[in-house]
Amino acid sequence: MQAWVIGNWKQNPATNHDVNALLNDLLAVTDAQADTTPVTSRFQLMVAPSCIHLAAVSARLKGSTIQCAAQDISQHSASTGAYTGDCSAQQVADAGATWTILGHSERRQYHKESHDTLIKKLTHAFAKNLGVVFCIGETQTQYDDQQTLNVINDQLSVLKDLLTQQPELLLSLSERLIVAYEPVWAIGTGKVPTVEEVSKTHQYIKQTIASFAKTVDNMTVLYGGSVNASNADSFAADAMIDGALVGGASLKAESFLAIANAF
Ligand code: PGA
Repeated sequence: MQAWVIGNWKQNPATNHDVNALLNDLLAVTDAQADTTPVTSRFQLMVAPSCIHLAAVSARLKGSTIQCAAQDISQHSASTGAYTGDCSAQQVADAGATWTILGHSERRQYHKESHDTLIKKLTHAFAKNLGVVFCIGETQTQYDDQQTLNVINDQLSVLKDLLTQQPELLLSLSERLIVAYEPVWAIGTGKVPTVEEVSKTHQYIKQTIASFAKTVDNMTVLYGGSVNASNADSFAADAMIDGALVGGASLKAESFLAIANAF
């Protein structure tokens, strides 16, 4: 299985100038490698810029080996409408995104995204042919209370309920869905779970999805949370870890590509 290494730029960089500088650095390396060793042979790269930079970044990445994702989409099905601050699935697809992140813990925390909201967003994304990077993970308290697998099970029920509503999605689910396991306590903190813990949780995620999506026996599951150039090797060495969702370390081409090269 090809690994995915995805940069979640969040609300960064601050200016167009800095976005261009980051893209220049990324493309300088990936374009050069594409001539010799195809960069996509072992891993596939994706970046998720903020909505304001999405169109420019995807235009710039056209023809490169790097795919472009939105960080979120509106929960409303309409392509246009009176939803101040929202961007619809149609709009982000038109801006050039082929994927969207959904359910990131920062969206769940700051925007109170619920089970039902996420079912709607997944529905709209798939309806517009966007792939989805679906984020799940437990908080520090839930981890301390050894509730990780229960929390994961609960968060995965969004997918189970979606498939009950729309069984036809099963046919292409493994190509259109990537799950990112991101313990909330590991995001941006420098703290990481052990590789064994991540491996066990990933195995649980794959088994749980296979239990309600019978045709999907090996869902792509990425690890996210303080992945950097120094610890990527250890995650990459585990067969249950199919890549990484990278926040802070994706804002420098050098560290992002070092992480990618670990996979
Ligand atoms: P981090 O963020 O790599 O900065 O911890 C990961 C994420 O939130 O996707």
